[in-house]
Amino acid sequence: MQLTFDEDVEAFRAEFSAFLDENLPTEAQTLERPQSVSHMPQWARDWQRLLFDNGWLLPAQSPEFGGRNATVLQQFVHLDELCRRRIFHSFNPQGVNIVATSLIAFGTAEQKQRFAVPVLRGEMTASLGMSEPNAGSDLAALSTRAVREGDEFVVNGQKVWTSGAHHADFLLTFVRTDPDVPKHKGISALIIPTDTEGLVCRPFADIASQDNLDFNEVFFADVRVPAENLVGELNQGWRVANGSLGHERTMMWLLFADRLDNLIADCRPRTPLERDQYASMIMDYHALRAMGSAALARAARGEADTSSVSVLKLLGSEAERRAADVLLDTAGIEGLLHPVTGRYQHMNNDEYFASSFERYTRGIAATIAGGTSEIQRNIIAQQVLGLPRG
Ligand SMILES: Cc1cc2nc3c(=O)[nH]c(=O)nc-3n(C[C@H](O)[C@H](O)[C@H](O)COP(=O)(O)OP(=O)(O)OC[C@H]3O[C@@H](n4cnc5c(N)ncnc54)[C@H](O)[C@@H]3O)c2cc1C
Repeated sequence: MQLTFDEDVEAFRAEFSAFLDENLPTEAQTLERPQSVSHMPQWARDWQRLLFDNGWLLPAQSPEFGGRNATVLQQFVHLDELCRRRIFHSFNPQGVNIVATSLIAFGTAEQKQRFAVPVLRGEMTASLGMSEPNAGSDLAALSTRAVREGDEFVVNGQKVWTSGAHHADFLLTFVRTDPDVPKHKGISALIIPTDTEGLVCRPFADIASQDNLDFNEVFFADVRVPAENLVGELNQGWRVANGSLGHERTMMWLLFADRLDNLIADCRPRTPLERDQYASMIMDYHALRAMGSAALARAARGEADTSSVSVLKLLGSEAERRAADVLLDTAGIEGLLHPVTGRYQHMNNDEYFASSFERYTRGIAATIAGGTSEIQRNIIAQQVLGLPRG
């Protein structure tokens, strides 16, 4: 399905497209590959800085934050162009899309200048410290404790799954500051530099590869954090957390559609059953684009539409997972070879160039990160279908 937009939106796309043609780093310049979502080789920092300086990093923001006050449809064609060409605007996606935007929305003027702007310019990287061993889907159950002592908070506890923490300069960390009120009401957000005494990051491998050290356990033992690093008001961290996840989910369906498109392109069905599954992949892709486009139109009209975020996240992540499963089946034993599928995409992470097996294992992540499929189903049941709480 091809969407067309008004002339001004297409002019915006053409301007961005010309910028990319002129400025994109070459494959030879990008040989040093990022080691985690908070590790940026110099070329990746330079690339992000160039986008920032030209207002193409986060087009919805004002120029001081790397944008150009773009409309919803302009933001969409910007992302569409990046997806179509398989380009990452940032190799520290959590830092730019979640942490920096949260600081812009909730931080003080000083926090914006000291932390958000350097992250946007590629001078610092940041990770997101939300999940804990006993607080994932139920994030409000988090127990990492911060106690105010004079001009500081003293933090004790543990985070887990903190992507890229070992390479990040700081973590946006959610902590319990009041244990005596209902759990959503006693949470605060703190900026914690990773070189603070008492903070230890322990990276660990994921299912895709023993060498892929992106996840971390992060331990806090009497970590002293200046009180000025509190983001938003004390005990109002739940608002910041919801804002953070909101940033993560906006227009996410387009990324799923892009990866689905890529899986379809690389799939070679051989049997009648595989051809049926292949047809389902294509139908999922078109359903996702059609429903995503309808949601985009509602967003462009300024209509509040939180439930479609869950519907699209569920549809997109589950379709990607099924498609990666089919890709692996159709590849047979060769699915284990690396690299086998996909054209090398030097401005993206390396998953397009990975084996079918690795793409299968990575396909699972999206059904968990940013709210699991079960949680999305719960939201849809309650908010869209009006069913009682389970
Ligand atoms: C690739 C990736 C990157 C990540 N990066 C980060 C990061 O940078 N920072 C960070 O803080 N976290 C990160 N996470 C963690 C992620 O947010 C959590 O994994 C997620 O919120 C689920 O929490 P959990 O793993 O503790 O699972 P749990 O919440 O323990 O869930 C276990 C199972 O129970 C199900 N379940 C739980 N509650 C319900 C319910 N009420 N109804 C029905 N079923 C339920 C879940 O769906 C799941 O199947 C990342 C995860 C992944 C996969």
